[in-house]
Amino acid sequence: MKKVLISRVLPEAVYPLLEGLDVTRRDQTSPLSKDEMRAALGAFDGVLCTLGDQYSADVFADVAQPRCKILANFGVGYNHIDVAAAKAAGIVVTNTPGAVTDATADIAMTLMLMSARRAGEGERLVRAGKWEGWHPTQMLGLHLTGKTVGIVGMGRIGQAIARRCHFGFDMNVRYYGRSPKDLDFEAAFHSDLNALAACVDVLVTAVPGSTETRHMINAQVLGAMQPHARLINIARGDVVEEAALIDALQRGVIGGAGLDVYEFEPALPEALRALDNLVLLPHMGTSTEEVRVDMGGMAVENIQAFFRGNPLPNAV
Ligand code: NAP
Repeated sequence: MKKVLISRVLPEAVYPLLEGLDVTRRDQTSPLSKDEMRAALGAFDGVLCTLGDQYSADVFADVAQPRCKILANFGVGYNHIDVAAAKAAGIVVTNTPGAVTDATADIAMTLMLMSARRAGEGERLVRAGKWEGWHPTQMLGLHLTGKTVGIVGMGRIGQAIARRCHFGFDMNVRYYGRSPKDLDFEAAFHSDLNALAACVDVLVTAVPGSTETRHMINAQVLGAMQPHARLINIARGDVVEEAALIDALQRGVIGGAGLDVYEFEPALPEALRALDNLVLLPHMGTSTEEVRVDMGGMAVENIQAFFRGNPLPNAV
């Protein structure tokens, strides 16, 4: 029987899917330490791992003859795994694309609306007992309907956000990427990110974390944005240069921002937390019961397929 380590507590509905495998549950919510990752590579045939389990090249280098042959990632983003190093060690990596798309697009819309309509500020005002009542110029925000959204990375999630903006909010959709996409709704392609940033009311990132996308949103891009525009990041923290964003928000270079992910998460600089024109969520893109069960199901499907010798549904 193949031995599989589950690196984190999963929704209960996922565990029965692991039938036929010798499963070790690590019933913790914290990431694996490097020692735990090395031990797992030596002692298990497969590991169901997730965000925060930093399978970097040195971890693979430390285990000469890994017993582990598959790292089944719970999540679509796998920038915490050095896939080239895993492959060189004879380990396949899989992920869970698709299951996360709608929920993550919904969180992007949540952040867009919260930032544009100053919902975080409003809630803080009410909770602090400082609300003095409705008046015609109270907490005026940005009206989203009919405005222009810029999507950075028009993949699965980018397109789901674009569809919500186009069909739900009658917004003009523009996007930046490596090549134009064949879409069934109107959207203008930009090959220049600064040019896109300059003409949108909301800029939303939906690219994977990678060495190419690190600090894609930097001082130059933020400087190109309009003073009322909002930046939304649901991608990976280091896609946005956090220090440049703090500076842009402090100086009013942009109107506000909404973040689900952080460059050094879960650590947030005090300067970020102090900003009122910023909405902060704790990496909640996929956090619904249904979606987390689906993600678990996909991760287990990859493991089961691998050990049964079937084609891998989601190899990366
Ligand atoms: P996807 O379908 O692969 O889409 C990614 C898009 O980014 C693709 O259109 C891709 O372009 C583009 N891209 C990649 N590298 C680029 C580069 N260097 N320059 C410009 N564009 C680039 O992935 P997805 O399912 O939409 O997920 C996107 C990311 O969202 C994930 O990798 C993950 O990090 C993040 N995410 C976050 C949460 C959360 O909880 N906040 C949840 C789920 C996912 P091509 O079409 O040319 O390949």
